[in-house]
Amino acid sequence: MAKIKLEREKCIGCGSCQALCPSHFELIDDGKSHIKGAEKKEIEELEVSKLGCAESAAEACPVQCIYIEK
Ligand code: SF4
Repeated sequence: MAKIKLEREKCIGCGSCQALCPSHFELIDDGKSHIKGAEKKEIEELEVSKLGCAESAAEACPVQCIYIEK
């Protein structure tokens, strides 16, 4: 299993993660990104069997608040 993490405090709501990887990320009502399927909190985490586009989203994030653990 791999893990996707998102440090929401740092997110500036640019939308890149949602554009590149809508299966895992979406902007929600506070204007910041959320990992689909994860509990909504300050630092979100989701275990996934396949990272798919999440790695591209992490690379593209301008404030580097998406982390990938393999
Ligand atoms: S790419 Fe980074 S800064 Fe932009 S919305 Fe996603 S998590 Fe936030």
